[in-house]
Amino acid sequence: MTDRTYHSGDVSGLLNGRVSLWYDEIGIPARGPALPGDASVDVCIVGGGLTGLWTAYHLATHQPDLRIAVLEKEFAGFGASGRNGGWLSAELAGNLERYAATGGRDGVVRLVRAMEQAVDEVITVCDKEGIDADIVKNGVMHVARSEPQLARIDQTLAHHATWGIDESHERRLSRGEVHERVRVEGALGAVYSPHCARVQPAKLVRGIADAVRRLGVTIYEGTEVTAIGPGRAVTPHGVVHAEHVLRCLEGYTASIAGRRREWLPMNSSMVATEPLPEHVWAEIGWDGAELVGDSANAYSYAQRTADGRIAIGGRGVPYRYGSRTDRDGMTQRWTIESLAAILHSQFPATAGIPLTRAWCGVLGVPRDWCASVTLDPATGLGWAGGYVGSGLTTTNLAGRTLADLVLRRDTELVHLPWTNRRVRRWEPEPLRWLGVRAMYLLYREADRREATGLRQPSRITRFANRLTGR
Ligand SMILES: Cc1cc2nc3c(=O)[nH]c(=O)nc-3n(C[C@H](O)[C@H](O)[C@H](O)COP(=O)(O)OP(=O)(O)OC[C@H]3O[C@@H](n4cnc5c(N)ncnc54)[C@H](O)[C@@H]3O)c2cc1C
Repeated sequence: MTDRTYHSGDVSGLLNGRVSLWYDEIGIPARGPALPGDASVDVCIVGGGLTGLWTAYHLATHQPDLRIAVLEKEFAGFGASGRNGGWLSAELAGNLERYAATGGRDGVVRLVRAMEQAVDEVITVCDKEGIDADIVKNGVMHVARSEPQLARIDQTLAHHATWGIDESHERRLSRGEVHERVRVEGALGAVYSPHCARVQPAKLVRGIADAVRRLGVTIYEGTEVTAIGPGRAVTPHGVVHAEHVLRCLEGYTASIAGRRREWLPMNSSMVATEPLPEHVWAEIGWDGAELVGDSANAYSYAQRTADGRIAIGGRGVPYRYGSRTDRDGMTQRWTIESLAAILHSQFPATAGIPLTRAWCGVLGVPRDWCASVTLDPATGLGWAGGYVGSGLTTTNLAGRTLADLVLRRDTELVHLPWTNRRVRRWEPEPLRWLGVRAMYLLYREADRREATGLRQPSRITRFANRLTGR
């Protein structure tokens, strides 16, 4: 199971790995000081991605005298928070029925509204803290390029309508309306939501890390946590003792002793073009900053970057045996090729434009594919994640909720239906690997059939979802 990869310089001009495109612009940060030895604080946060940083931000804002330490293995923003597609969207992981099982139907509607508000909350904090992360809120389009994809969009909209999720959240666009925004080749229609902004992920996460430091929080970088228990986080540099220890590792959760089967590290990869010339943009007609995805089972997601590239992502190799993660974001050759094929199929005008960048990262997938925020008051242990690829906004809602739970604030957030959900663990290997691999093989087969003449979504998709409990 060796990865066939492009190494830096293998392909003329294409840099693969080195965390992500987003750091090319601001530079890979030098690591801050590591934990100097044993320490004692009030709250110890493990993981310096957006979940950990938003939690620290809100804890420190509500209670400035709280002693808070963030322990980060590499540098703040090294993980998915500094590598993602920059979709700051109100999309929520998983299916609504599962959240309703713990929070009721009205709880689900409150959660959907809370996600919409979280998009604006992130933008507000960026304004307040002087963070320029190239944010533009023009919404998101999931484009259907075949009859079955269109049928899937309509089924989803009809299903959401039964939950009272109305046109203020998302609405159907005709083919003409899609083309007015972006000329995606073969588009038949789309679902559009205004609740989404384009973001430069590294600028956002590094900006939040700076804001957190200004509030008096200590971020120890180059500090790997190997074990977590009630009141303590263990690192090679020393043990941090704290009343509350919060695990904020999402796709890296399996690296902690005893947590290997908790959240599956799902891989997602991206490629980016060089800046497109004006005549290519004119052909594509993508004047705004809408985020654009397709409606395939193995879907893609794209953004027009502030410097005029298209960055597009998708699943590629979905999962590495034994919950392994990539080293510094290097992805596989065939993933790059398949993403290039999707790009050229959606935007034929890009066919002659070189790709300059490729990278990947991991996100966390719970066994029931629904996100959660949890604090066990008996042990002081807490965690948040499992956002299944919709984590950019959700980390903000999770961080605010985790902070309220720690501070025992009886807010609306702590009563949302994703709070304190119990989720069973993934199966041991090789079942995990076989299950996820089979699911994506089936998705690809379903997509192939849907692209070649089916009128309704392939039944294979339902079978694939049942296989992995999606
Ligand atoms: C390629 C890609 C594209 C994506 N696109 C989008 C998108 O467009 N929109 C969206 O909503 N979501 C997207 N996501 C998902 C989203 O980025 C994540 O869900 C979110 O950033 C998770 O944040 P986090 O802080 O929980 O985890 P991370 O950002 O992964 O942070 C975890 C941190 O823990 C550190 N760490 C790891 N192990 C240890 C250890 N043992 N001890 C201490 N520290 C450790 C890591 O270095 C990392 O900095 C994407 C993800 C990927 C990979």
